[in-house]
Amino acid sequence: MSTEPHVKSAYNVKNPFIAHLKNAYDLTGVGAPKHTRHYEIDLTGSGMEFLPGDSLAVQPTNAPALVELVLKSLNFTGEETVPNPKGGEASIRHVLTDVFSLTEVDIKLLKAVADKSGNSELMALTAPEKKEELKKYFWGRDVLDVLEENPFAIFEPAEFTGLLRKLLIRLYSISSSLKAYPEQVHLTVATVRYESHGRTRGGVCSTFLADRVSETTPLPTFIKSGMGFRLPEPTSDTPIIMCGPGTGIAPFRSFLQERKATGAKGKSWLFFGEVNRSTCFFYEKEWEDYLTDGTLSKIDTAFSRDQEKKLYVQHRMLERGKELYEWLEQGAIFYICGDATRMATDVDNALREIVAKEGGKSPEQVIEYMDALKTSKRYRRDVY
Ligand SMILES: Cc1cc2nc3c(=O)[nH]c(=O)nc-3n(C[C@H](O)[C@H](O)[C@H](O)COP(=O)(O)OP(=O)(O)OC[C@H]3O[C@@H](n4cnc5c(N)ncnc54)[C@H](O)[C@@H]3O)c2cc1C
Repeated sequence: MSTEPHVKSAYNVKNPFIAHLKNAYDLTGVGAPKHTRHYEIDLTGSGMEFLPGDSLAVQPTNAPALVELVLKSLNFTGEETVPNPKGGEASIRHVLTDVFSLTEVDIKLLKAVADKSGNSELMALTAPEKKEELKKYFWGRDVLDVLEENPFAIFEPAEFTGLLRKLLIRLYSISSSLKAYPEQVHLTVATVRYESHGRTRGGVCSTFLADRVSETTPLPTFIKSGMGFRLPEPTSDTPIIMCGPGTGIAPFRSFLQERKATGAKGKSWLFFGEVNRSTCFFYEKEWEDYLTDGTLSKIDTAFSRDQEKKLYVQHRMLERGKELYEWLEQGAIFYICGDATRMATDVDNALREIVAKEGGKSPEQVIEYMDALKTSKRYRRDVY
């Protein structure tokens, strides 16, 4: 496997590198049912090193409009001074923007709201045996919902901030190689937007990047090692199969840039899927160029809504089962990146079906084969 960078990064959650956005563009076209965007972040002067397979941690801030609504619902001006967990004191507007999460409700806050407003139904939800009901209550609700639904819960500024969770970093699979783009890091990010309880909401970090970051906005970042999600040595003949639908494509863009830069020998096969080809074929021209110059040996795509019957990457894999099994028998590494909830399971099942059918294996032998793939590190997953 490729060697790890020699210099251990000086940056971490407590000491992030303050990067700046260099360039960004939409990967989804007009009329697309979702919004996915490509970001290029400048790392000049950071000395930051990473390998294909690593992720970038980004510390977001909350949307100012949401902060103002929370302040208003609590009758605060925003100028009230509260302890700042990062040290000293700060205005409540500052900590609600930079330090605390407004989209996740801590049970401590829920209990305090229930207690202050005398909401016995809400208090009952916090009982240990009500975990499932509580989970349902939390789904699609944020701090503002809880406050607005319970207007009689009155808080002192510091009392309120003491009941909030910290605003955490988000991880993004890096979609560039330092060999192709020195002193830069690229990301491929789906913007999370949805409607809940009559209000339009956005995922904190994906909308921070899409709506609130300009070239002058401080972007606190650091590298999180993707140990295990690594390319074979460039001199190795080991074939690689990369399955990356949606934003799962990110690390494979990095892989292919690296392989082009190092003149990697083994053959490579990319599976990509999205909703439709015309609006969601991310980085299409780059894959065409890699096919032309031989960096990429094969690409198979599945655009789910381009035909009557939904078609996903696992269906394409099954169609190509014979060849895919041949590659596995030649020692290929199978990489998968993207959605953990459904896609990763569907792809895993497709792999098992291929091994059973093309390898003529019994259910027990399929389990053995898949276990052997995992133990020999030839089945690598980066799913979220
Ligand atoms: C190792 C790793 C690599 C990753 N790589 C990438 C990547 O390359 N690209 C990428 O885009 N993402 C990637 N992610 C996911 C990323 O880290 C974030 O989780 C994602 O961007 C959402 O973060 P956010 O802050 O925008 O949304 P958040 O503020 O975290 O909001 C998301 C939450 O909103 C809620 N929600 C969402 N939709 C609805 C709805 N319809 N109804 C009710 N509630 C809803 C859910 O509770 C959901 O958990 C990766 C994650 C990991 C762990």
